Amino acid sequence: MNSSVGIHQFMPDKVWKWKVLEQKVAHVLSLHDYQEIRLSVLQDYGVIHQGITALMQKDEAHQATEGIVNLSQPNGDLSLLTLRPEGTISVLHHTAKIIGDKDVHRFYYLGPMFRKENGNAPREFHQLGVELLGSDSVISENEVISLGIKICQNLGLKDVHLHLNSFGCNACRPAFFEDMKNYLQKHETELCSGCFHQLYTNPFADTTCNGESCTAAISRGPKILDYLCPKCRNNFARVKKIQANLAHQYIVNPRVNKNFAYYNETVFDFVIKQNGMDLVIGGGGRYDYLSQMITGKNIPAVGFYLNIDRIFESMERRELFTPLDKSFSVYIASQSDDLEMMMLQIAQELHENNIKTVLSTDKHAIEEDIALALKANCELLVVIREENVREGKILMRNLVKEHQDYITLHEITEEILLARKSLNKD
Ligand SMILES: [Zn+2]
Ligand SMILES: [Zn+2]
Repeated sequence: MNSSVGIHQFMPDKVWKWKVLEQKVAHVLSLHDYQEIRLSVLQDYGVIHQGITALMQKDEAHQATEGIVNLSQPNGDLSLLTLRPEGTISVLHHTAKIIGDKDVHRFYYLGPMFRKENGNAPREFHQLGVELLGSDSVISENEVISLGIKICQNLGLKDVHLHLNSFGCNACRPAFFEDMKNYLQKHETELCSGCFHQLYTNPFADTTCNGESCTAAISRGPKILDYLCPKCRNNFARVKKIQANLAHQYIVNPRVNKNFAYYNETVFDFVIKQNGMDLVIGGGGRYDYLSQMITGKNIPAVGFYLNIDRIFESMERRELFTPLDKSFSVYIASQSDDLEMMMLQIAQELHENNIKTVLSTDKHAIEEDIALALKANCELLVVIREENVREGKILMRNLVKEHQDYITLHEITEEILLARKSLNKD
């Protein structure tokens, strides 16, 4: 799968792997009492626009909303539809409607999201979103971070580790913002214009620029961790301590940045190694202020996303998908006209016994039926011929043991179950 291609189609050789991945993810989430939400792929443009821009400066808001995939040109009309670029906003609106005093809700959603980047064609990508809503305690942060680690480990990505940072709170980060702006102005010549403008509008922006001069200038600049108030510093210390006690590897990385500016306090990335380099496969953080801005209700929350496309690619690269046990199956062929009814009846009876069948679509000579049955990976071939049926029998060929027999019509299922048993396929 090429991530630069905007549209994804998965054929059966990939779909079974997607199902394995999805089942493993759902299993871990259900053990932690997270409930699935199935969001509409179509969203109201106005709602998404308001949600994404709620906590942004004007310049940044313009940039962020350019990535939204609308179904027609908006021309300032906010009543249009959009393909969902993310899920948190919808989940907050839903939660605001149902949440009661002291309620805590745990939700997740998994599916395609759509965004445009740098004016390119819309890109489809798959994302798992997990949200814990209604709690501002550090316990929730640790629950959510641990859950993300657990999911990655359960998928076989054992080297997953954390990059942690804190974005502070409304009490402590304004001082950081101000110092950062002063610093940027003083060092404007050392930064490319992309870095300067992105960081000037959002000091937490992930510039993705690797320019030497930019990197050096930014690393010498003010760091939010030096500005944390006692509450934020204490909470961050508790997150680190608990994650360390859980034997989760972490590093404090002041470069964990988020383009969605709505995060506060703990932010994190889930990182694995690929070709010796760090590969971010997900991340998240606390977003206590967002709900108030977009729903009018104060709902402290913490959540994360996993980049399922990246995880899928890594799992394929590491050969972490093991084929499911191939199920026993029977090829049913008829060599006479007017016996389709019987084919279907035999198939139905076998299905009731959880035996998979493949039906021949035409009349063939026996050699050809054998070849087709082998090609379809079947262990048994049943051939219905008029002259045999008249004598109350049909032909059953064991394709594994390469022998055949006539079996009586009223014992077809029993004989097939016996054959399955002899092949150790129950
Ligand atoms: Zn603070
Ligand atoms: Zn730069």
